[in-house]
Amino acid sequence: MEISKGLNIIELGNDKINMNPILILDEENIILIDTGLPDQLGKIVEEVSKAGVSIKDINKIILTHQDLDHIGNLASIIKNTENYIEVLAHVDEKPYIQGDKSPIKMSPEKLNAMSEEERNSRIDMFNKSKANVTKTVEDGETLDYCGGIEVIHTPGHTPGHACFFLRRYKALVAGDAMNVMDGKLVGPNPIFTLDMKQGIESLKKLLNYDIETVICYHGGIFIDRPKERILEIINTHN
Ligand SMILES: [Zn+2]
Repeated sequence: MEISKGLNIIELGNDKINMNPILILDEENIILIDTGLPDQLGKIVEEVSKAGVSIKDINKIILTHQDLDHIGNLASIIKNTENYIEVLAHVDEKPYIQGDKSPIKMSPEKLNAMSEEERNSRIDMFNKSKANVTKTVEDGETLDYCGGIEVIHTPGHTPGHACFFLRRYKALVAGDAMNVMDGKLVGPNPIFTLDMKQGIESLKKLLNYDIETVICYHGGIFIDRPKERILEIINTHN
């Protein structure tokens, strides 16, 4: 779905969860932010083509963080492209995305608590998804693509979670730092957030940006005075 010229929300979902990677375009860049769950490549191909481009044209993938529902098609998109794809993520997430470290939600303790079948399927899914991060980003950095993409390190959900502020659109790509539930912007999901306190603390940083639109990976778009709402979320958690 194109929400503004060059800014598209890719709508993915299964029976349990909805997911919204972002596709942003300018003359030189076709950038995908986050990549869905493993085995959703067909759906991504279809959705990307609605924006008038081919998945083979993607030349950058930005990841908000390491979780499987965000990196799921990273390796398969790279495999299906002739382009060199630059893969960007916050420096603290890189070792997890590449598999140099076990992903946090697949720590030995977490894996041991799963049935053998679930454990094997998780490991298999991760191995199919992982790929090298070729460029690390840091808090406060602006990427010179698509009108300027500002990196906001928002630890909490994971240590290297990052949000991205798209200057041209005054839109915040929130990843899992917040969610939209029943049309309402809410904080990080406590079930999946490593450090809730830190996650809420990170939201304070967002108040420094001129945000008119928030796009959450789970739940999609929120435009009803988002900064006031972010402040409300911070205050209710303090
Ligand atoms: Zn997620």
